[in-house]
Amino acid sequence: MKGVSRSGPLKFATCATVTMHVGHQRRPGAWVRDMRKVMTFLVPGGVLALASLLLVRLDAMEGCLDEVSRLYPVLATALGVAYGLRFDRSSLVLGALCPAMALWSLSFFGSIHDPTDMHWRVAYVSCSVLLPVNLCVLCLLKERGTLTARGIARLLAILAQPLVVGAVAGRDPSRFVNVLERGVIPWGFAEALPLPQVSALAGAVCLILTAVLFVVRGGAREAGFFWAQLASIAALASGPDREVAAFHLGSASLILLVSMVEISHAMAFKDELTGLPGRRALKEELLKLGSEYCLAMVDIDHFKKFNDTYGHDAGDQVLKMVASRLGHVGGGGRAFRYGGEEFTIVFSGRNAQDALEHLEELRKDVASFPFVIRSALRPIRSPDRRGVRSHGRKNVTITISVGAAWPGGSASKPEEVLEAADKALYRAKKRGRNRVES
Ligand code: GH3
Ligand code: MG
Ligand code: MG
Repeated sequence: MKGVSRSGPLKFATCATVTMHVGHQRRPGAWVRDMRKVMTFLVPGGVLALASLLLVRLDAMEGCLDEVSRLYPVLATALGVAYGLRFDRSSLVLGALCPAMALWSLSFFGSIHDPTDMHWRVAYVSCSVLLPVNLCVLCLLKERGTLTARGIARLLAILAQPLVVGAVAGRDPSRFVNVLERGVIPWGFAEALPLPQVSALAGAVCLILTAVLFVVRGGAREAGFFWAQLASIAALASGPDREVAAFHLGSASLILLVSMVEISHAMAFKDELTGLPGRRALKEELLKLGSEYCLAMVDIDHFKKFNDTYGHDAGDQVLKMVASRLGHVGGGGRAFRYGGEEFTIVFSGRNAQDALEHLEELRKDVASFPFVIRSALRPIRSPDRRGVRSHGRKNVTITISVGAAWPGGSASKPEEVLEAADKALYRAKKRGRNRVES
């Protein structure tokens, strides 16, 4: 890692921030990652939301929708709460509770589902604003557990909402309804919306915010909340049709519950820091390999020194940068975080020559990546300058060493090939680093 030696670890206490100029060139294989992201977004939430919208229109449902819409939300909520408690995820417990509370409010505050009934309209307009907002806020908040102080505070904040609405609207329900039903969207089409305009606006803002969160975080949790919000909005847009509303609200709870499968899978198989699949995923990938493949072990050069000089946080940024370049390796290579600052790349169905060319390209790509450290350097060894800060910008070159191997000779099983790749990596380190050896 060139550039590290100028400021030794003992000389400075360093608070470093890192700027990465991410390359925008698209490589073969980028579309596979994009497709994975699209699939994370659509499955299972999108499929379930669409199924919910279609099912209520089926002729076959006509006779049983009444019965189903009584049982389905109760079952989905109970399972969501039970699994949320079991896995200590307040976002699931509360996310499953919110649609159920809306359904309960619509049934309780208005004893009849009649839009002319003022109590029903109070419940309806407040639910149609609060439900998407609550789901969006739950998605925004970090997971803090269920029976913790914050988990309980969030539960109380949600349970208190019907009481607050009752207290506010109680004195003058028609004024409350008029305020929430007034026109706020200046365009003509807003008149035809199946929701009060304030609710439609709140729903749209919440959906957009959750979609942005998905793009930024890329997680199944955000995708689940997006589709749960959409199902909730569909429920409220169905107005006084109790069966249809109940069915969609049940689907909203179910979407959050089923998205737990995706979340658990990501937790088990993905490395949190780099976003790459981890060791467990690599183990499974090795079992799927055919007879032709190439494995590469990648290790960041002098990484300990980098950490000591610029701090662990800057080191984490380097790991993310290297992981992102590895994620873009060509030749169909799939990168995994093996552990620490070591990565593995699997080229399935590729010959060695092909893989080596892409590995060499990768090495050059990482070495030429503009990695800028902006640091506030504070000399701690010279008392005369104590307290004086000098701000510096420094370009740091990060390099990697790579060892590659493929089946043949004494290495026939993937584990043996991996061991051979590790030995090749060791040779790359011995021969000066920033190189590919096989
Ligand atoms: P070489 O060129 O021989 O590979 O030297 P090196 O310093 O990179 O190798 P070494 O194995 O001695 O150091 C690896 C360092 O990686 C030590 C550890 O602190 C750091 N490391 C491992 N995991 C992480 C992590 O998740 N974040 C950060 N910031 N550092 C990590
Ligand atoms: Mg190492
Ligand atoms: Mg290293």
